[in-house]
Amino acid sequence: MQKRVLYIVIFTLFGACNHLTPLYPSRNPSAVAIDNSLSINFKQFLHSPSAEIELRASLEDLKSYYLRAESIMADFDGELADNKGSISLENSKPYKKLISIWRLKHQLQDKLTYNFIALEELMDKKGLELQEKKIASKLFNVMKKELNSSEPLNKLAYDEINQLVLNESKQRSGFYIKTFDGIRNKKIELKSESEKISLLRKYRDQFRKLGKKEHLKNDLITQQIESGAENLQLLDQAGREPQSQLVFSPGVGPNGNIMSMIFPKGVWALTFDDGPNPTYTPEILKNLEQAGIKATFFWLAENVIKYQSIVDSVGEKAMVRANHSWTHPQLPKLNDVDLDKEIVQSTKVETKSYGEPIRFFRCPYGAGNSVTRVRQKIADLNMLHVFWNVDTLDWQDKDPESILARAKKQMQANGHGVILFHDIHPQSVEASKKLIEWSNTLKGTNEEIRWVTLSEIVDEMNGGK
Ligand SMILES: [Zn+2]
Repeated sequence: MQKRVLYIVIFTLFGACNHLTPLYPSRNPSAVAIDNSLSINFKQFLHSPSAEIELRASLEDLKSYYLRAESIMADFDGELADNKGSISLENSKPYKKLISIWRLKHQLQDKLTYNFIALEELMDKKGLELQEKKIASKLFNVMKKELNSSEPLNKLAYDEINQLVLNESKQRSGFYIKTFDGIRNKKIELKSESEKISLLRKYRDQFRKLGKKEHLKNDLITQQIESGAENLQLLDQAGREPQSQLVFSPGVGPNGNIMSMIFPKGVWALTFDDGPNPTYTPEILKNLEQAGIKATFFWLAENVIKYQSIVDSVGEKAMVRANHSWTHPQLPKLNDVDLDKEIVQSTKVETKSYGEPIRFFRCPYGAGNSVTRVRQKIADLNMLHVFWNVDTLDWQDKDPESILARAKKQMQANGHGVILFHDIHPQSVEASKKLIEWSNTLKGTNEEIRWVTLSEIVDEMNGGK
């Protein structure tokens, strides 16, 4: 009898949540699969007796990732200082830990963003049991209050997720005009950039110390970060070999992977990942255009399908548009079906959107570069894989000045190569602008920089087209 009641309750609750799908009406099967797992996760979360505790714990974890990343980034910058910028990213322990944190943070932010939007929708839904609306409203308010907190650490650590939530709400308001209540989200406003940077500078040392302490605890998060770093193999033997022939061609060997080791001296490719973004991609485009410089953009299909006009405007300026997967997963962890969706289907969709063949692919987190089954799929589509030898860490560092210093140090040590930025953060707009301004001061010296797109340098090194 009890069992039967339980089944009815479960059935009713799940039934009540069905209206939450589809969250993204125009998305492809791989994105829907991701949404389904987020949706199942949300249902479990909503009906868990400890939902509020879980929610608060997740938000605490997000802050912990931020603090630890600040501390480990300081270790990375220490390595750069000790070695005058000349370090191998694949051999740097702090660097691999940062990538590990980045991935964990990414997953958690995706989950929290989904839950926030789903809770909001639930509150607006007609015909729900009052009790369920109450639960949704309570959880929503817990989350909103925390995300809006004026405490400095919260402001910095939640800056990115606030923006994700805002973007998602804006996107969805078009689909849900009747139920969408923009007022609730209007209260989550991005803090002004200057306020954010001064907060960061004021508290940075303190936060780094806190992060170090947390990491020394050797708790579950520390273990996750450490094992993620250990299992991350950025390059295989083939990737480490200097490209013997001056020809790049799609394949699983060294010639199918742009490592920039054989670029001529002073030649640099600016690359921007994870967009397009409705705010920051156009700002970066404007800066590049004003400086007369072209860059390469590695985009996610999940964003490409949302922002066709931005995709077009970047193409019109003869910038290179490349692929960075559909949803930014760790490719080596996927089964064949999902791997196919992330590489093959995303390339298909982006090729249509760009209106031209795609020549370059970059694995999310650089993970998969050393895995033959991943590289083979990329090569089969006639694309070259592209790694980087300068990482700005602009996903963690909100201060354009220290991003600039980090990039310059690595560039001066390497002499040529590929620089990694992201066109989804305000600090990246500012830092890349400053980097270009710095490069202009080197004109006429023997340190002069020549900016290229990846298409330009590959054609040039392959003997011209
Ligand atoms: Zn990425």
